[in-house]
Amino acid sequence: MATPAVVLVLPCAPLAKPYSYTWPFARPAIAGQYVQIPLGNRIVLGVVWDTVGAPPAKGALKDVLRVFDELPPLPATLRTFLTWMADYTISPLGAVLKLSLSVPTAFDDPPKRGKTLSFPWPEGRSSPTTLSPTQQDAATVLTSSLGQFSPLVLDGVTGAGKTEVYSEAIAACLAQGQQAVVLLPEIALSAGMLERFRQRFGEGVTLWHSGLTPATRRETWKAIARGDVPLVIGARSALFLPYQSLGLVVVDEEHDSSYKQEDGVHYHARDMAVVRAREADCPVILVSATPALETITNIKHGRYTAVHLPDRHGSAVLPAVTLVDMRREVLPSGEWLSPTARQAITATLARDQQVLLFLNRRGYAPLTLCRSCGHRFECPNCSAWLVQHKQKKRLQCHHCGYHAPPPAQCPACKGEDTLTPCGPGVERIAEEAALAFPSAQLAVLSSDTMESPQDAAQLIEQVQQKQLSILVGTQVMAKGHHFPALTLVVVLDADVGLSGGDIRAAERTWQLLHQVAGRSGRGEWKGQVLLQTYIPDHPVMQTLAHHDRNGFLKTQLAERQATGFPPFGRLAALIIAAPDARRAEQTTQALARAMPLAKGLEVLGPAPAPLAYLKGQHRWRFLLKARKDFPIQRAIRDWLGAIKPESGVKIQVDIDPYSFL
Ligand SMILES: [Zn+2]
Ligand SMILES: [Zn+2]
Repeated sequence: MATPAVVLVLPCAPLAKPYSYTWPFARPAIAGQYVQIPLGNRIVLGVVWDTVGAPPAKGALKDVLRVFDELPPLPATLRTFLTWMADYTISPLGAVLKLSLSVPTAFDDPPKRGKTLSFPWPEGRSSPTTLSPTQQDAATVLTSSLGQFSPLVLDGVTGAGKTEVYSEAIAACLAQGQQAVVLLPEIALSAGMLERFRQRFGEGVTLWHSGLTPATRRETWKAIARGDVPLVIGARSALFLPYQSLGLVVVDEEHDSSYKQEDGVHYHARDMAVVRAREADCPVILVSATPALETITNIKHGRYTAVHLPDRHGSAVLPAVTLVDMRREVLPSGEWLSPTARQAITATLARDQQVLLFLNRRGYAPLTLCRSCGHRFECPNCSAWLVQHKQKKRLQCHHCGYHAPPPAQCPACKGEDTLTPCGPGVERIAEEAALAFPSAQLAVLSSDTMESPQDAAQLIEQVQQKQLSILVGTQVMAKGHHFPALTLVVVLDADVGLSGGDIRAAERTWQLLHQVAGRSGRGEWKGQVLLQTYIPDHPVMQTLAHHDRNGFLKTQLAERQATGFPPFGRLAALIIAAPDARRAEQTTQALARAMPLAKGLEVLGPAPAPLAYLKGQHRWRFLLKARKDFPIQRAIRDWLGAIKPESGVKIQVDIDPYSFL
């Protein structure tokens, strides 16, 4: 009897590499096949990584238990992408594979019966809107790039019709029988977007996010793996789905920081999308009104091709931005709407138009304080204050989810009625607005009131039907909705986000404010934006007031270049965390002693993390700052290999970090 073949199988588990197994079946193994294997004392899912494995030095190998033949193999282009990504992010290859095999129940036996989903391929639907000549030109550039790797940046102001333009490329991709994926940053708010895509592409348009029912998730995953789903609209996790014939990747709102995954495998979905497209040999379209500085630099260096959409589509014009100098406004304490803003709101409501009051802070008040003894309410698991939520009647930690009912008395001095909220959240602004404008219909739009896609869709519907006249919203409001009657946006605290040691603070504020401003006046009326600021002379405020994007980019790029920060240099972070403070510190000290010394690399730290205690873990940080051409992954791998962490201590690597907490 011939010796059975040996294959390499990558288990769907956080392990660094594939392992050899014997192949007991008569038919030969195919790379990418989904299989079941024994691993330790468990039985797990895996993927045949190579059909030629190494025979064992001693002892016997275990058999592959089962092959799942009903699905085509995991495509080779996806396997090379996952391998690249594991290497880049310094993550176990098996942990990265798990991002693709995110629905293990797809292999359950016997297959569970649920409703049958169908994903009809659209048939020659043409654009429902007529494109302007500039839009048509842009669409032609995108469409003619199909069939090969090509990183494109669709750059146009809010309302320029970017979605309609890239939809042309999707239509062309689907017409060639290939699958397309569109990534969106805020999927809970995407019901409207999905509707637009459905109108254009029919029922084959499929939503992919964590809120799907298990049955829908399972059937959808299988259909994508079979190549049956034409168009997937999804959160960043949709990038890893096993598309059988990927022909186009779109990253909408590419500058959005929620594309950065900061849990488990740390990655930036925009950057990974570019590599995914490169491996699949298809175009990737990055879409934004305010492209990230990284993206702008890639265009400058000729790595990405910019496609501009200069005109605001239709009759709408850019809103007028006015800086409200808060040093000159007179406000009673406990109020945040300036007299200037109140006047503008009154005038807008009188015209039967809508107002958005924007504050990027959930809840009622960011801090609760005892007036008598000064006690502040902190999270027991994190070094962070508890945020007061009035609607949910609780104090809540926004980092770990801890919450408690608001106490009747101060736990420190036992004083009654001494607790007082400090600072505003959206709920508090809503309270102030309701008092000032008692006849206005008002609603808070935040992730607390829009938890499910249904809640979100309902609120958005109410806005569109003009059942609401004042909206008080956080950044969830800034996303791409079209509210034609919304003509006034008041940004309560435009300065928030400019403080703190984050290198992208100014950029993020610019993007956010620009996006909020874009909510205003998208219909036939000109919009107006009021930015309440204590620093009206700050370059961010000045360039916003003058719609001066080039001026803003110029100052920011000069600053980053002078400091050697991305995109002119590279950053990586090491976060050391453990429930035991002493062990976390010991491991940190061991790392400090083994710190890499190299030309072109600077290691900052160790320092206690700004959130030194988070979710019950004591945390330390190193920040690595390197020249653009420095092999930072290799340096980190060698560094980690040189020490042994204390038991219970986790070292998380974050390449290209966006959060410094
Ligand atoms: Zn007290
Ligand atoms: Zn907490």
